[in-house]
Amino acid sequence: MTEQTRTPKKNTGKVYLVGAGPGDPNLITLRGKYLLERADVVVYDYLANKKLLTHVPSSATFIYAGKKGGGLHAFTQEGINRLLVEKAKEGNMVVRLKGGDPFIFGRGGEEIEELAAEGIPFEVVPGVTSATAAATYAGIPITHREYTASVAFVTGHEDPTKKYSNLQWDKLATGAGTIVIYMGIKNLPSVTQKLITHGRSPDTPVAVVRWASTPKQRSVEGTLETITQVVKDAGITPPALVIIGDVVKLRSTIDWFEKRPLFSKRIVVTRTREQASELVAKLEENGAACFEYSTIHIERVADYQPLDKALANIVSYDWILFTSINAIKYFFNHLHSTGRDSRSLAGPKIAVVGKTTAEELGRYGIRADLLPDTFTGEGLAQSLLESQVGKGSKILLPRALRASEVLPETLTDAGAEVDVVPVYQNVPPQGRKEELRQQLVQGDIDLVTFTSSSTVTNFITMVAPEDEEELKQLMQGVTIAAIGPITAETIREAGLQVHIQPERYTIADMVRAIVRYYQTEQP
Ligand code: SAH
Repeated sequence: MTEQTRTPKKNTGKVYLVGAGPGDPNLITLRGKYLLERADVVVYDYLANKKLLTHVPSSATFIYAGKKGGGLHAFTQEGINRLLVEKAKEGNMVVRLKGGDPFIFGRGGEEIEELAAEGIPFEVVPGVTSATAAATYAGIPITHREYTASVAFVTGHEDPTKKYSNLQWDKLATGAGTIVIYMGIKNLPSVTQKLITHGRSPDTPVAVVRWASTPKQRSVEGTLETITQVVKDAGITPPALVIIGDVVKLRSTIDWFEKRPLFSKRIVVTRTREQASELVAKLEENGAACFEYSTIHIERVADYQPLDKALANIVSYDWILFTSINAIKYFFNHLHSTGRDSRSLAGPKIAVVGKTTAEELGRYGIRADLLPDTFTGEGLAQSLLESQVGKGSKILLPRALRASEVLPETLTDAGAEVDVVPVYQNVPPQGRKEELRQQLVQGDIDLVTFTSSSTVTNFITMVAPEDEEELKQLMQGVTIAAIGPITAETIREAGLQVHIQPERYTIADMVRAIVRYYQTEQP
């Protein structure tokens, strides 16, 4: 944009240089998140986790500033500096999001100097730098009273064999207890040699940590003498940090991150948008890398007349049955929209299918009268029959438009009068289909979780296999977890095998079963 075409601005904006943290998107500061939530323009780096962009309003302008070591540079440093100045002059609130800490090998100083020279207001927000994160997530205390009282952060970008170096390797070699090298993979042979030449013992322990704090983290260990070969054999490429010093010995005791039971497992979570978070949170807590595909999208039904009719006569029912959280949500949404509240349900008794539905019902101030021992439709039918529900009982069942007929049929067979009333529907969503298929083709998925029959059918719709054979082929080597027997049955009907199924049909039990599976079945 030239000076002439630039819109004249009364107010110049401001540039916030924000540290994104080392990789895990939870490691950004609260200040950083606050600023992202208010940004007009975000200029982000290769090393800043893309998940952080979900904090930014979708109306903002997103600019990828690239700069991947050795690869194509989307922008030169001068280009980035100019861009920041230009966007601020247009009056924008600009967040410049940089991996780790902006002032540690991040060229943040140069960007700020340019802004200062142009008289543009700025602020710098520190971030967790990758050196401390890599050490922490590899189980290495970067300082320790018994091992070292100093630590040096060094760039390995500069080739130590060049004639005039800015780094005094002779002093560094023995001058700092722990040495952490950023951008050190390419020059690792010469760096380690230089340190040995200048008096550091060749036996000094060394750890190299790649993609620290993310599910992709990989770390290897060796000594100053062996680490180059170890890194080569393991195929470790940037971004990685080299940690040198006796503190590396503590790793054998402290390593916690990579030891979590589901560490590095790539898991597809097929659940509704609204409900995925609990499962994803629990899996990630155990170290898994989750890919969320909302194979179901929940919507209102087109026609609420059947529900209106039931509500008008609600006192005539003996029981209302809720078999899903969504049924409760949509039922009460509609109830409220008609100006009523929970008090209008005072007549009939209310039964739910399981613990989570009981909790959901509690949010509306209602305690369930019946909770079955087995958390399925059949279990609920059984418990109702045992509670003398049957001949002559009038039952209301608000539920999904398409659902299993087992519950209403069992009750009808026992002589009850069941009004099935649709209150919501599952529709398969569009988009991201190709991505999922691609991941399966490339063998990038370890496990797929299914939490209901419709997640299974919609998953298959998304993957769109030509036939059962192709589906089997795509799912070869992929472990399958089903939340309960009905879901498992649907999976088997599709020609697939179920590897994991918890005894109780809750998310917590399913996650425990997955953890147990990897602890026992897999070495
Ligand atoms: N400002 C950043 C560093 C940028 S220099 C910070 O404070 O962390 C880029 C180098 O940082 C990479 O070559 C690598 O050595 C290191 N690095 C950044 N993120 C990393 C990560 N998640 N795991 C390992 N090394 C990382």
